[in-house]
Amino acid sequence: MRKVSVAVVKLTSCSGCINEFLYAVASSPELLRRVTLVYATEFQDLNTLEEVDVALVEGSVATQQQEELVKSVRSRARLVVALGTCAVFGGVQAARVGEDLRRVILASYPNPDFVSVLPEVRSLDRVVRVDVRLQGCPVNGDSLARLLVKVIYGGGEVSIVENACSECKRAGVQCVMVSKGVPCLGPVTFGGCGALCPSFGRGCYGCYGLNTSLVDAERLAKFLEVLEKMGMSREDVNSLLKSFSYSALARLQARG
Ligand code: SF4
Ligand code: SF4
Ligand code: SF4
Repeated sequence: MRKVSVAVVKLTSCSGCINEFLYAVASSPELLRRVTLVYATEFQDLNTLEEVDVALVEGSVATQQQEELVKSVRSRARLVVALGTCAVFGGVQAARVGEDLRRVILASYPNPDFVSVLPEVRSLDRVVRVDVRLQGCPVNGDSLARLLVKVIYGGGEVSIVENACSECKRAGVQCVMVSKGVPCLGPVTFGGCGALCPSFGRGCYGCYGLNTSLVDAERLAKFLEVLEKMGMSREDVNSLLKSFSYSALARLQARG
């Protein structure tokens, strides 16, 4: 029987994506039979892991220990998956980048002397080679299940280049921007969630990250002007982009 061994690696994150993994496997008799969990950061020392088919890495790299951990994992894994928006783009914790680190730590922890973090919050691909990116906050469990099935039975590279608007069209969801004048980040955001927020009449706030396959700096600037005219402040949109798309923004800025 074809089986796949999986390591679940947790960096700076909330465990929401790991929960999606557990739920996806528990909901599928096929995956329950074929997926073997061989390592989980929260319960095991990495020395217990020799090699693994798939490393699912949740979270961004915010400490020196995490940097060493992911490098070691990379050397033992056939396939490294950046699991969720934190791993793919930096995540909400990237909102602290550029702020006074000491002030942020004092505001967040009762015993700040025990906190040791790097000044920058890095997406996984800035530390190791990443084979597959599955963004989403949390990641879509169905997408993850499809990826695992693909790994078990073989298949080509997984690539998602649509924006969230494509999902509204497919699902027959009425556009909230057009029908209600609600600002929505869908046109510049990766698809993959099934148009979750627009299907409840809300605008997308970009948790699947900025889709730089479809949007360059010039298009983004023009789109932000549209959002501003619809009443979304530049401060709010910048805060969302920093929280969910930090590394993508940095890439856009580097491209000039
Ligand atoms: S992407 Fe969202 S759900 Fe997943 S670990 Fe990060 S904050 Fe949690
Ligand atoms: S609701 Fe948002 S994501 Fe959906 S089509 Fe309109 S702009 Fe695009
Ligand atoms: S619509 Fe946007 S904010 Fe809502 S779940 Fe999808 S990507 Fe995230």
